Amino acid sequence: MYLAFGFLSLLLSVYLALTAALNQTTALSTATALMRAQVGFGCLIYPTGIWFFSLYAGLVHWRRWVTIAALIFGVLLVINLGSPYSLLYTNILARPPQVLPWGEIVHHFTGTESPVLTALYYTAVDASYLWAVCCCIVLWRRGSGARVWSLTLYLIVQAAASVHAETVNLAGGQGLTFDSLAFLVLVLLMSGVLRRELQYRSRELAISLDELRSETLRREGVEADLSHLAYHDQLTGLPNRHYMHEYLQSALDSTEPVAGAFILFDLDHFKTINDALGHDVGDELLKGVAARISEAAPPGACIARFGGDEFALHIPSLGATDEASPQTALRIAREIGARLSAPLHIGNHDLVVGVSAGIALLPGAARDVDSVLRQVDMALYRAKATGRHTAALFEGSMQAHADRRLLLEKGLRLALERGEFELYYQPQLDMQGRFIGAETLLRWRHPEHGLIDPTEFIPIAEETGLIHRIGRYVLQQACLELDAWPAAQTQARLSINVSPWQLFAQDFVRTLQETVASTRADPRRLTLEITENAFLHDLDDAAGKIRSLEAVGFQFSLDDFGSGYTSLASLKKLPVRELKIDRTFIEGLHTGTHDRFIEVMITIAHHLKLFVVAEGVETEEQRVALIDLGCDAIQGYLISHPLPATAFRRWLTEYTG
Ligand code: C2E
Ligand code: MG
Ligand code: MG
Repeated sequence: MYLAFGFLSLLLSVYLALTAALNQTTALSTATALMRAQVGFGCLIYPTGIWFFSLYAGLVHWRRWVTIAALIFGVLLVINLGSPYSLLYTNILARPPQVLPWGEIVHHFTGTESPVLTALYYTAVDASYLWAVCCCIVLWRRGSGARVWSLTLYLIVQAAASVHAETVNLAGGQGLTFDSLAFLVLVLLMSGVLRRELQYRSRELAISLDELRSETLRREGVEADLSHLAYHDQLTGLPNRHYMHEYLQSALDSTEPVAGAFILFDLDHFKTINDALGHDVGDELLKGVAARISEAAPPGACIARFGGDEFALHIPSLGATDEASPQTALRIAREIGARLSAPLHIGNHDLVVGVSAGIALLPGAARDVDSVLRQVDMALYRAKATGRHTAALFEGSMQAHADRRLLLEKGLRLALERGEFELYYQPQLDMQGRFIGAETLLRWRHPEHGLIDPTEFIPIAEETGLIHRIGRYVLQQACLELDAWPAAQTQARLSINVSPWQLFAQDFVRTLQETVASTRADPRRLTLEITENAFLHDLDDAAGKIRSLEAVGFQFSLDDFGSGYTSLASLKKLPVRELKIDRTFIEGLHTGTHDRFIEVMITIAHHLKLFVVAEGVETEEQRVALIDLGCDAIQGYLISHPLPATAFRRWLTEYTG
């Protein structure tokens, strides 16, 4: 619209300039040229006016109107260009000049009108005027306003000027006409309206711009809050795992080979505190720990809460030589550990938290965050395995260990279906050399790695929960094996190792009862071997289960006695019938150092009416010593290595004759 108005104003100014020139010229030839030019511009002005007014009135199909006008006036323009006296006249004559009151002289020209073309031209001009009136009506129907008032005013002025000009013409053409000046009114009125509209829009735009700016600021604020939320831990205010992940990756990507370290701290027994004292205390404890780690961390270190009770520390530079950096990293981890071991006062409690730490030195072989995290995890695992409250550095050998573990873990899931488990049996004799029973020992025949010891895969089975399925399999097989023994051995017992996790399971008692029922095994011939740590968790629960199973005939044996932490008091509480002295005590027998211990153990066991079996008896010397000490039975390589079922039965037939 503004473009159309610009063109229109330009054309109108030229038209008015031509009119002024015509009024001042005396030469007929100049007047002829000026009249042609004037009519020519008129042919340009009307389509441009239609262009402008259709946009001014907001007509949807404005292009259609502009095209029609352009076609009509285009034809007229071409005719005008080809006519010597413009399209209106066939010749031109000068009229007597007119003297204005202030002395100025105005010249007029007229001519013989060409009837058809003049009629055509004025019809087109009048139609344009009527079309503008229609636009005005459209605007009125939409409501009043500066636009519609200005257009109405112009149309009235234009109509008045045209009527006046026609009157003057009819009266012989003597007198001033103002029809050209109506165009000036048009330009002035319209430019006023458009200027005001522009000002109004600029103001609105400025307001919108202000709103946009404040909206942007608000959005930036929200974004900052969100990013803080996404990258920080709400409880401690420390950066979170996500943040540390990105931070560590950018540190690993940097090419500077500075000796740094990544340390992962894990609170020992946090879960116990949380469960026993409640989550509020647990939360406060975590806050206290976060504050202490922050205080103790070296300058420039990045600290993050990594998860439940895990905190991570990235030290960009240890400020030590490559050789000294492991020691420096260990020292820092231990210092933080020592700082944490001072009691934290929370509510009414003075809590002491132990912390284990895994350390990966940077830049090591790991180039990505996941590898560094795996390294610290392995180191942390080692730290915990070596008795908690310590720090351990990642070493290459841990990777091999972890790889094998992963491999075993994967294989273990399929081992049952693939029938890779086998049961071995190791005989037990009383001190007179009579066969009294055997212990069931599980073996895993791995398709690639051969025979794998239970000491390696049972802990994995326990951690992955597979122990329950494996345990049921062992139980089932052992029960069936009893049936295959020679008929003379009806008094002999079979011992089965039971993991503490099996004992903790709710359905432990039911599983055992169902298995003996389905295999028709006599529970009185079964001894269940349980290690001491089975009772650390919940002594009463374990004792209850043992009692209910004893009631139906099962017997229980305390395996590896002496290697754990069972107190004499709890031993008294346990309804077990048998005690197996750990192999490590028997090993030392010939040196005489453990004799005293074993003697005390046997005395106490007999006092509690327990049957005592010595494990790992390898020599005749050990057997004789055990007879002297009053032991009841022995098991070990001296008698036989653990044997597969058929080999064991053969041994049994040969031994018992
Ligand atoms: P454990 O119950 O104390 O079993 C005795 C271990 O000592 C067996 O090791 C046996 O092979 C070994 N042994 C026997 N006599 C001698 C000897 O004279 N000298 C030496 N050096 N060792 C001897 P194994 O079979 O490797 O089993 C290790 C442990 O794995 C077992 O210790 C038991 O705790 C666990 N285990 C074995 N089978 C099962 C099972 O079916 N279920 C569960 N939960 N644990 C099992
Ligand atoms: Mg055992
Ligand atoms: Mg044992």
